[in-house]
Amino acid sequence: MSRIIFATGNTDKMAEIREILKDLGMEILSMKEAGVNPEIVENGKTFEENSLIKARAVHALLPDDVVMADDSGLEIDYLNKEPGIYSARYMGEDTSYDIKNNEILRRMDGVPDEKRTARFVCAIAAVFPDGGEEVTLGVIEGRVAYEIKGEHGFGYDPIFYLPEYGCTTAELPPEKKNEISHRGRGLQQMRKRIEER
Ligand code: IMP
Repeated sequence: MSRIIFATGNTDKMAEIREILKDLGMEILSMKEAGVNPEIVENGKTFEENSLIKARAVHALLPDDVVMADDSGLEIDYLNKEPGIYSARYMGEDTSYDIKNNEILRRMDGVPDEKRTARFVCAIAAVFPDGGEEVTLGVIEGRVAYEIKGEHGFGYDPIFYLPEYGCTTAELPPEKKNEISHRGRGLQQMRKRIEER
């Protein structure tokens, strides 16, 4: 076992993944760095299914490597867990997050604190050279904020409020967010599974 290929083109995610998995002593590459870029149809019904679909598609091209992929999103209880697995596609893939976040705040207008519960969820899938598969799930619980706040992070971070920190995930320093985030937690669990193999 020598290389981990992560099925993402996102450089922020790659930095976080490298940091969390560095002690495994394996080379960590994005799929672009590994020279592959398959067309992947994310037609699963859960975060876990979609992460496995991505990891399997890249593993088919790189069967000798450990291939990992993630799938993540925001679940808002009051909106029946929307946008959920459609988080990136909500209101259209090319719509700005300023517009998406304002629309969510509009839909949550007048909804009291206790009904604003939400969570970021991240599934991490790995497919191994022997064909074995593992999937982990990381979660961070919070609330939908009342206004857009914070400059860090991306996506829905400016409207995801953490009561215990008194701020949104877009107001947290990136190192802190990585430490407590859904993706960080899913990756930490995956690191343990790899160590146990
Ligand atoms: P993925 O890259 O297919 O997993 O897309 C996940 C989508 O969920 C992103 O485009 C964001 O809209 C949202 N999302 C996932 N994780 C986060 C986060 O940490 N902060 C803000 N938004 C996130």
